[in-house]
Amino acid sequence: MAVAYKPHPFHWVPAEGARHASVDERTGSTYVDGTEVGTLCGHRLAADNSTPAWLWDTCPDCNVHAHALAGVPTAGAR
Ligand SMILES: [Zn+2]
Repeated sequence: MAVAYKPHPFHWVPAEGARHASVDERTGSTYVDGTEVGTLCGHRLAADNSTPAWLWDTCPDCNVHAHALAGVPTAGAR
């Protein structure tokens, strides 16, 4: 999907069984497998780019923080 607005200040990163969000710098379009990433829910986790990993559920804490960073209300808060 081509989106023209400015990039979000965070990235999604699957790690440890959930899809987390992070504001860590990255060099490509994803974090390299095994990269230790600081997540918005306050953990340091190893990135996992396997296909099943991208289908993990979104971390609820990261979801709240990511929505706040993006200035978008969470679905449950509307
Ligand atoms: Zn998280």
